[in-house]
Amino acid sequence: MEVLVAKFGGTSLASAEAFRKVKAIMEQDDRRCFAVVSAPGKRDAADHKITDLLYACHDRVSRGEGFDDLFAQISDRYRSIVAGLGLELDLESLLDEIRGRIPQQSQPDYAASRGEFLNAVILAALLGYEFVDALDLIRFNENGFLDLVATERLIAEKLPPGTRAVIPGFYGTMPDGSIKTFPRGGSDITGALIARGVKAKVYENWTDVSGFFMVDPRLVDNPQPISLITYRELRELAYNGANVLHEAAIYPVSQVGIPINIRNTNCPDHPGTMIVKSIDDAGASRDIIGVAGQKDFVIIQVEKALMHSETGFVRRLLSILEELRISFSHMPSGIDMVSLVILKSELNGKLDRVIELIHERLQPDRVEVIEEIALIATVGQGVAKRHGIAARLFKALADEMINVRMIDQGAHGINLIVGVENADFERAVKAIYRAFVQ
Ligand code: ASP
Repeated sequence: MEVLVAKFGGTSLASAEAFRKVKAIMEQDDRRCFAVVSAPGKRDAADHKITDLLYACHDRVSRGEGFDDLFAQISDRYRSIVAGLGLELDLESLLDEIRGRIPQQSQPDYAASRGEFLNAVILAALLGYEFVDALDLIRFNENGFLDLVATERLIAEKLPPGTRAVIPGFYGTMPDGSIKTFPRGGSDITGALIARGVKAKVYENWTDVSGFFMVDPRLVDNPQPISLITYRELRELAYNGANVLHEAAIYPVSQVGIPINIRNTNCPDHPGTMIVKSIDDAGASRDIIGVAGQKDFVIIQVEKALMHSETGFVRRLLSILEELRISFSHMPSGIDMVSLVILKSELNGKLDRVIELIHERLQPDRVEVIEEIALIATVGQGVAKRHGIAARLFKALADEMINVRMIDQGAHGINLIVGVENADFERAVKAIYRAFVQ
């Protein structure tokens, strides 16, 4: 039988009313055998996320302060969910146990993980599904990295065909049995791992928007939604600043070709965004799939005569970054010239040291630093396969009198990146979007 894994985000499980919507969604399709849950999110702008409150409890403990007021807020939220759903559940003993164990922990992971744990217990009771703890499914190695092989084995073993289960997102176990969480937002990763482990037909990721948009709605009013996109296109958008799924939540399913479907819990009939391995040329009937960008890059241009015939030049240049633990975003190059494009936050005050070491170790003819640069990526299979895309993009920027400071097309050719001044960022994104979407 085909199975679907449905991961529900924090806003989809923030209140009893939200839980009821989730129940209706789960019951709508019999193939939804597994639900993976986040902790309760905000009910409105002034509200707190339960995970934030749990981290705050741990902080208080580590400062030697009490956390009763914070824990009362957490407890009240769960009480109102359980009461609102009319569930018979011994919530109080679970809360007491958590309340007692938080002060015994040196790391915040135990406290942080309890938001998902309680939500999974509640949803399992509501659906009449089994509760299966992520501790028994998700494994990290001694260095704190995901142990994918062990995780896949455990999931296949503990969630055999025929199981219907709710699994808490965001955490797993270290080899010594202690709890470790993924980075923030990590329930998406758990969902992807479960989908891979049970060989799901689709990994559904239920949130509070009907999929992704072609551009950040804060920059362009009512942007077009994306209905179909490839993992690779999504990766390019994410890497270039779009607020979409994190790579760690994509690769467990993209490696094995399971599609991801982003859906809206408040609008369950909307098909959302489908993320797939490939789209045939007929399906790729669009010029671009999206525009994403980020401000505050620094470009370091290094020029040296006959650089192209000097072996090891780029290795020595990059070893400077490695030594200073700086990662770069792009490295466009030309004859006798190479540029490093680095996020300012990555440089973290080390720019002068980088320049000093470049002069010392590479004896360049010239090093130029260009600051306050924004990068904008125009992404889509059409960028590589259709003619006239670059012409339209550059005409749009020229019409707006925006000066292009850098151009890069990425190795896959599905991404055309332009660097403009920070001050031109918003105007440039709007102009590019308008050039392709009327
Ligand atoms: N609750 C965790 C967080 O707020 C994990 C998640 O929601 O994905 O980051």
